[in-house]
Amino acid sequence: MIIAANFKTNHTRKSTKEYIEKLNSYVNDLGSKDSVLVFPPSTALDSFDLNDKISVGIQNAYATEKGSFTGEIGYEQIEEFGIDTILIGHSERRHVLGESQDEIVKKYEFYKAKGFKIIYCIGEPKKVREEGIESVIAYNFAQLEGIDISYKNLIVAYEPVWAIGTGLTASTKQIEETLGLLKEKIKAPILYGGSVKVANTKEILGIKNCEGILVGTASWDVNAFCEMIGIAKNI
Ligand code: PEP
Repeated sequence: MIIAANFKTNHTRKSTKEYIEKLNSYVNDLGSKDSVLVFPPSTALDSFDLNDKISVGIQNAYATEKGSFTGEIGYEQIEEFGIDTILIGHSERRHVLGESQDEIVKKYEFYKAKGFKIIYCIGEPKKVREEGIESVIAYNFAQLEGIDISYKNLIVAYEPVWAIGTGLTASTKQIEETLGLLKEKIKAPILYGGSVKVANTKEILGIKNCEGILVGTASWDVNAFCEMIGIAKNI
């Protein structure tokens, strides 16, 4: 299974270091076989000495080696830390920051060519969910346009927009139905994300075709995130 933490715009360089030290010693002691991914803010990136089940990734980067793209980070800056994992297509980038599917495809192609592990996020807004499952699947498949879904280092995260950071989790039935239909097309592992917390981790990880979780808010507390890793180990 894959257990991933997205810090978004939270934690500092100092608190990230403390977090990763605690997480590392927890995973060392647990001896878990699950993969743990952590996405801190870019200012907190570093070359951490970690258990080989843990990877630190970047939440976003520009599709360039280097260049004149004020405020952006390119491959050269990421490579310095030995980072080879990236989140692409997160709903906050799509819907809050206005990233288009074309830009997302460019990013995907660039980091795919670098051999990165890509956690590629898809998910429908509330209005689409209310239209029913056919619209949900059509919307999610449209977010795969231009994306090479046979890429060997791809992990897909299904994250309904209406469940992200809202405290609303999709029901077990909704997750199971959606993942089942996505799985007909996507052979890569699929994670669920959207208000996952300690209390619902076991149930969500037990859903058919759910190969892990991408956790935002609840992962910012290292103790809670470690508890989720512990729960995953016992499934
Ligand atoms: C996310 O940011 O990918 C996410 C799922 O956030 P939250 O857990 O806060 O809903």
